[in-house]
Amino acid sequence: MADIIQLLPDNIANQIAAGEVIQRPASAVKELLENAVDAGATEIRLIISDAGKALVQVIDNGKGMSPTDARMAFERHATSKIKQIDDLFRIKTMGFRGEALASVAAVAQVEIKTRRAEDELGTYLEIENSRVVKQEPCAAPAGTSICMKNLFFNVPARRNFLKSNAAELRHIIDEFIRVAMAFPDIFFSLTSNGQEMFHLEKGSLKQRIVQILGNQYNAKLVSVSEETDYMNIYGFVGKPETARKTRGDQYFFVNNRFIKSAYLNHAVNTAFEGMIGKDSFPGYVIYIDLDPAQVDINVHPTKQEIKFEDEKIIYAFVQAAVKHALAQSSIAPSLDFTL
Ligand code: ADP
Ligand code: MG
Repeated sequence: MADIIQLLPDNIANQIAAGEVIQRPASAVKELLENAVDAGATEIRLIISDAGKALVQVIDNGKGMSPTDARMAFERHATSKIKQIDDLFRIKTMGFRGEALASVAAVAQVEIKTRRAEDELGTYLEIENSRVVKQEPCAAPAGTSICMKNLFFNVPARRNFLKSNAAELRHIIDEFIRVAMAFPDIFFSLTSNGQEMFHLEKGSLKQRIVQILGNQYNAKLVSVSEETDYMNIYGFVGKPETARKTRGDQYFFVNNRFIKSAYLNHAVNTAFEGMIGKDSFPGYVIYIDLDPAQVDINVHPTKQEIKFEDEKIIYAFVQAAVKHALAQSSIAPSLDFTL
């Protein structure tokens, strides 16, 4: 009998891999925003129509790409962010897998315009089914504009699986907020069907948080801030009276990356013990910075799940930092009183 195993052609392999990275318009939003951040942009505009089903566009004023790089960017495992295996342990960028653009180009129609500040002309590219269908020089502002149109146009089963526009828009806003909260030095805007929903001027971390979560938090945030050799923790927790019955406003960032962690969430909740009802949840936006070697962000393609080298230390530290912050703002009785 003849051998029967073959390597899949790139476009099929890309489409299969895309399933993990791009689940819905919001996944593309996250990847494109993170690329703009990694490109050093100071202004990032997100434009969507039909909750991203028709269009997701991200315009940045970052470093742009050369004509060759613009083409390479859409190859799978093509990245400028890591070069060797050791780099995986010192990742400072949001991306590093080199999969996002290849995935987007496998399941949507993509147009990109990009120019480096030092180049006179930019590059325009059109890609469909992972293939470049047009490439030409063009006039363009410095930076990059990527349009992703008709997501899953070639994967009808996926397209049908998308939720209502209201639900998909909610997912997009969530991803937008998670990136915007981590980078108050960057201007962000979100325009949906021609209407600007967010316009976030550069400012302090607190200003950015209040811009996003709403003015009701303005006078109700308690600052959290502790430093050790091992890690820094900073950010804000809402005063106990802002606690709600739902887990809405709870955000954890590790090295500027939004993460989901029931374990660390528990650490904060228990720091509030006795101050809020058993079935209510405090609002918080907490940032942890530590040596990238102490975390593995390569657990899942979307990187929202991470593994800490020593989870228990982080738990104890978070809990202590929040308790300390609450005590200092004399919301909780201080334990270290003098006689
Ligand atoms: P990754 O971000 O993991 O490197 P991507 O597929 O998201 O992989 O992007 C591939 C490469 O394309 C990046 O490493 C970067 O060099 C380049 N790139 C993508 N988006 C931008 C952008 N907005 N501005 C400049 N370069 C970009
Ligand atoms: Mg990326």
